[in-house]
Amino acid sequence: MKIFDTMQRRKVEFVPIEPGKVRMYVCGPTVYNLIHIGNARPMIVFDTFRRYLEYKGYEVNYVSNFTDVDDKIIKAANEQGVDPSVISERYIAECKKDMADMNIEPATTHPQATKEIAGMIDMIQALIDRGHAYVAEDGTVYFDVSSDPGYGKLSHKNMDEMMSGLRELKVSGEEQKKNPSDFVLWKPKKEGEPYWDSPWCKGRPGWHIECSEMSKKYLGETIDIHAGGEDLIFPHHENEIAQSECASGRPFCNYWMHNGFLNINNKKMSKSEGNFFTVRDITAQYDPMVLRLFILSAQYRTPLNFSKELMDQAKASYERILNCTDKLTELLAKAEGETLTAEEEAEKQKIEGFIHDFEDAMEDDNNTANAESAVYEIVRTANAASDGHSTKAWVAYLLDVIYKLCDGVLGVRTQRKSASLDEEVEALIAERQAARKAKNFQRADEIRAQLTDMGIILEDTREGVKWKKA
Ligand code: AMP
Ligand code: ZN
Repeated sequence: MKIFDTMQRRKVEFVPIEPGKVRMYVCGPTVYNLIHIGNARPMIVFDTFRRYLEYKGYEVNYVSNFTDVDDKIIKAANEQGVDPSVISERYIAECKKDMADMNIEPATTHPQATKEIAGMIDMIQALIDRGHAYVAEDGTVYFDVSSDPGYGKLSHKNMDEMMSGLRELKVSGEEQKKNPSDFVLWKPKKEGEPYWDSPWCKGRPGWHIECSEMSKKYLGETIDIHAGGEDLIFPHHENEIAQSECASGRPFCNYWMHNGFLNINNKKMSKSEGNFFTVRDITAQYDPMVLRLFILSAQYRTPLNFSKELMDQAKASYERILNCTDKLTELLAKAEGETLTAEEEAEKQKIEGFIHDFEDAMEDDNNTANAESAVYEIVRTANAASDGHSTKAWVAYLLDVIYKLCDGVLGVRTQRKSASLDEEVEALIAERQAARKAKNFQRADEIRAQLTDMGIILEDTREGVKWKKA
């Protein structure tokens, strides 16, 4: 299997540290509001990669953190007059809900920064002891970039260039740094901020140290794969390498995978720019599996531009898959025959070829775009199965193949969820009736809008509320 390694800047053969096992860390979101579909891209592409590793028989130890101490969380907490933990816990729960909707397998561990402070303090102390970090007068601890000859090896930045570019920059409050590119490991508390005791001052950790510590704690000093969006290459991942390798004296990570951006009008989707759709915005209009198919329709390193047209294409593709599995499920109940006919044997050769294409695509640096195409070929072939013609063995084989590749690896559910949609709609209608009874018309209107977004039309009739799909 080949992976494009950001550090080596080329596709390389993947060899795990321990045969049959993979240790993988993916940088997770900062939790101060609902995640957007740009944040969902790394979640979906690396979840799919993990699923493929599992399909190949690897045991994957998959760690993905929640950054729950951060300026933006503190700002949101102060604006809302609550403790920062109220904000972070709320949005961790919301994020987990989105992840479940998008059929993202829970990580082996989802560590949270605020619960790992003691380990971070130990790592910072180790860096000070080994001469890689220094304590400024106000108690801030900085990593000394000049102490690490390997600094810049991931992002391929030339240290001398970087230094001369930055030398003139005197960032206010950072005059105490030895070098402009030194970065914070620990910083003193400010009014209204959460803080922890440390040997240097009451304060909180910098962002980068959390991933170094959590990766070490849950996966060991050297890991197989570290992943995240390409905006994390510098400074976040560069700094993680510096911290981890200087603290342990060992290599930190063997393969670096970075996804390209999800763009909108060819600009990176981001919270700060305000040009984003939350996962919730999208799943109010589309099945979350459509979002998955859309995200996976591009190889993960290429930029992907969001558009309604592409979402609608993904929706049509999803319908084709569901129509196929609906039909096969129906046939399975009726069909007979435990052995394939000669014609089916020949068709099976074709399907095996498409499975091969699927695997080749996934082996070639997680090329989900080509893997999806192979699934569509399988669906096309499977659609020829018909009543009175196909054996039960053939129909069962087709369903099994689609299940393994689609549900299993791409994480795209192929079971239509009409029954649960009915339940969901009925529950919302009941809630709306109760809200109206309680004269909470605002809530009643909200529910009606939500149902409209789901493509449900309500009719108030004499016999009560009736509904239908638009
Ligand atoms: P953040 O919450 O900003 O720290 O981001 C969490 C993860 O989402 C990181 O791996 C980011 O690189 C990734 N990410 C954020 N915005 C985008 C985007 N527009 N496209 C792809 N990945 C993104
Ligand atoms: Zn990280």
